[in-house]
Amino acid sequence: MLPRLVELAEQIALRTGPERALGLLRHIPDPAFEAVRRARFRRTLRLAAERSPFYREQFRRRGLDARRITHPSQLGDFYTTGEDLRAHGADAFLTGRADTAFETTGTTSPVPKRVFFSLREVADMGRLTALWLHILGLRREDRIVSAFDCSFWVSPWVLRAGVEQIGCFHVEAGKIDPLEFYARAKAYAPTVIFGEPSWIVRLSEIAKTRGPWPLKFLFAGGENIAEVARRLVEDVWGAPLYLNYGQTESFGALGAECRMKNGYHRNDLYFFFELANPDPDGFGEIVYTTLSRDVMPLIRYRSTDVARLVDDPCACGVDMGRIGKIRGRCDEMVVCGMGNVGPWVFDEILRGIEDIGDDWQAVVRHDGPRDVVELRVELDDPSRRAAAEDAVHRHMRERSPDFWKNREMQLYDLRVTAHKVGTLRGGGRKLRRVIDERQMLGGAQPRAARENTGS
Ligand SMILES: [Zn+2]
Repeated sequence: MLPRLVELAEQIALRTGPERALGLLRHIPDPAFEAVRRARFRRTLRLAAERSPFYREQFRRRGLDARRITHPSQLGDFYTTGEDLRAHGADAFLTGRADTAFETTGTTSPVPKRVFFSLREVADMGRLTALWLHILGLRREDRIVSAFDCSFWVSPWVLRAGVEQIGCFHVEAGKIDPLEFYARAKAYAPTVIFGEPSWIVRLSEIAKTRGPWPLKFLFAGGENIAEVARRLVEDVWGAPLYLNYGQTESFGALGAECRMKNGYHRNDLYFFFELANPDPDGFGEIVYTTLSRDVMPLIRYRSTDVARLVDDPCACGVDMGRIGKIRGRCDEMVVCGMGNVGPWVFDEILRGIEDIGDDWQAVVRHDGPRDVVELRVELDDPSRRAAAEDAVHRHMRERSPDFWKNREMQLYDLRVTAHKVGTLRGGGRKLRRVIDERQMLGGAQPRAARENTGS
């Protein structure tokens, strides 16, 4: 009974608008919130067990009785993976009628994951987004121009749902060339800009030479950013750049940065977070269970992102715990200025190029604020390097137009380097295909950036 009452209070609070909602939510004591989360977890689990063919079958096979489980940890070694979504298809996860769907290429395979939602879920996420943007200082008089990619991507929808609550002016530019954005967006006098980090870095380079305009803040989602790149953006605009952490599967924010920019405050109202296989330092894979979804709930979904869960108080004064900075990914996929790249991306680009051996390796690093993808290939004749690079560019243009487009927008550099046959493997049995050498933690300047200072 108590959880139901608290839940009602929470829902009423969230419908009052960001400012009043914050005031009302503060009055709900922690134990009451925890009771709501537990009640939502039990409800989500029962729904999944009854209506989703995937979960029904998995629980049956493992002898798990959803009615007896009250905490995610009681599910033992059961998890849901991105591979499950791809292999079984979204239909196997559906528990209700969907109004819309989004896709994510955030995978190590070319097959997208499809995730379905109702408009009620969109509106709920919009209310929380509005709450957070209000905390960051967004007000009705602000003017937003967003450059989120609108193609099958969830972020523009979540943003719009949030902005509707605040009621400020909002133009959706789509992910166009930052040069064009700079020329066209200025006319709307935006005070807040939304986009992907690598795109915002490129826009800031342009603004540095052509002149910035006054901004309240910038907000980036979709990939990580190095602190050296964040500093460049903030120096150019004289305004903070905040990051969001989310996935299409989570429908928007799992967490978002506050003004301290020291980890992402967790959305504990709508998700139950756990860590899988934590190491002695407390880093593990972020795993989440959705608590408010009834179209396509996900139970113990493996994010493949490695981070810590931090419950120490934050200097910003917000009570919610945090997800620490993302340290890396468990799979071989790397999110960078090129896009979401895994081994299959380079297999496709290199397919059919003569002289190149089967062993290759892609290394992502920083050169100043920009990502550089170094594609290492093995060649019998090193003088063929330029020809191989030409072929790589041609194949990208023809076969991977999205990656090519990001290169034309100068969101990253692609360099092909030649290596002697048999050297990339270096005697190892397994060749790591895609390596992320960027340092995301702390304020340390990446080595690549240091070496290039002053050049
Ligand atoms: Zn904080």
